[in-house]
Amino acid sequence: MTRVFNFSAGPAVLPEEVLETAKEDMMDYRGCGMSVMEMSHRGKVYDNIIKEAEQDLRDLIGIPDNYKVLFLQGGASTQFAMIPMNLFRNKKAAYIVTGQWAKKALAEAKKYGDAVAVASSADKTFSYLPDCSDLDIPEDADYVYICENNTIYGTEYKELPDTKGHILISDASSCFLSRPIDIEKYGIIYAGAQKNVGPAGVTIVIIREDLIRDDLPEWVPTMLRYKTHADAGSLYNTPPAYNIYVCGLVFKWLKKNGGLEAMAKKNEEKAKILYDFLDQSKMFHGTVVEKDRSLMNVPFVTGSDELDAEFVKAAAAEGLVSLKGHRSVGGMRASIYNAMPKEGVEKLVAFMKKFEEEHQ
Ligand SMILES: *Cc1c(COP(=O)(O)O)cnc(C)c1O
Repeated sequence: MTRVFNFSAGPAVLPEEVLETAKEDMMDYRGCGMSVMEMSHRGKVYDNIIKEAEQDLRDLIGIPDNYKVLFLQGGASTQFAMIPMNLFRNKKAAYIVTGQWAKKALAEAKKYGDAVAVASSADKTFSYLPDCSDLDIPEDADYVYICENNTIYGTEYKELPDTKGHILISDASSCFLSRPIDIEKYGIIYAGAQKNVGPAGVTIVIIREDLIRDDLPEWVPTMLRYKTHADAGSLYNTPPAYNIYVCGLVFKWLKKNGGLEAMAKKNEEKAKILYDFLDQSKMFHGTVVEKDRSLMNVPFVTGSDELDAEFVKAAAAEGLVSLKGHRSVGGMRASIYNAMPKEGVEKLVAFMKKFEEEHQ
C-alpha cells in the first residue's frame, strides 16, 4: 500500500487513523455482524452513532443549547437555496461576494427575493477580501451572507464583517473545524463535509433555534425546511448514514488530538511553512494579499502555464498529488486541511525548492 500526500480541495484527505477504524468496523461494526452501511437508521445502534456524532461535535465547538445541529444532504450548494427559502421574511438579503461560491449563493437567493451584493472583490479576481467594517446593508435585510473561506481563491476572514445587528450566515465549508468557532456570532454556520470533515454527501448545518420556522409559505418543499430535519433529529428520511458515522470518527480524532485550539495551532504552523517559502521564492508566488491568506487553501503560480503544468506533473510523480489549481484560476493550489500532516507540507516545500533550483 502506498499512500500519497493528497492536496485535493475536496473530496480531500482524511486522517489515516479514521480510515483504519472504518476499515476495522467495515465487515462487523462492533459485534453487530454487519457494516454501518447495511444497518437500519431506525435501529438502536445507528441511533447511538448519530447521537454520539452530534454530542462530540457539540463538545468540540462548544455549541450553545439554543442551536440545533443538522446533518443534511444535497451538498453545500443546496444551502444556497434553503437559506433564503427559510429565512426570507422581508425578502431582502445582503451578500458579500468573495468568490464563486458566494456568487452562486447570491444568484440562488435572487430567485426568491431581493438579494444584493453589498461588497465584492471581483475587481481583482477575488484575491483579497473587501473592507467589511462599514457596509451599506439594507435596514430591513433578513440576513448578511458570507463565504468564510474561499476554497478556490484562497482567502479567509480573520475577522467577521460588521453586520450592523443583522443575522450572519456563513458558508464555512472549507474552514469548518480548522480553528475554534464562536457559534453565537452566527445565525447559521454550515459546511459540506468533504473539505475538512469527512466524506462527500453530508452537510452540517448549525442553526439558531429561533430561525427554524413553522410559518413558511406552503410552496417550500418539506425536505428543504430546516424544521423538518430539526424536529426529526436529522432522521426525517434516510440520512447519509455511513457518511455521518465517518464524520463522527473524525470528531473523535479531533477530540483526541487536542480539539480545535490544537488544530488551529497546527494549521498555522503548516501554512507558515508554505507561505514563508512562497514569500522568498523567485519562481513561485502566492496569489492572495497577505492579510487575507487562507490557512486551508493556498493558491500559487509560477507565471508560466507550461511551467505550472510541468510542476504539477513532476510533483505527482513524487507522491504530491492534486496540486492543480481550480479550472477557473489555473496555476496550483495546495489544500492543507486538518488531516494533512506537517510532513506533507514539508515535503511539498522541499520539492518546490528542488524544482526551482533545477529550473533556474
Ligand atoms: C465545495 C464548496 C461548496 C460546494 O459544495 P457542494 O457540497 O459540492 O455543493 C460550497 N461552498 C464552499 C466554500 C465550498 O468549498
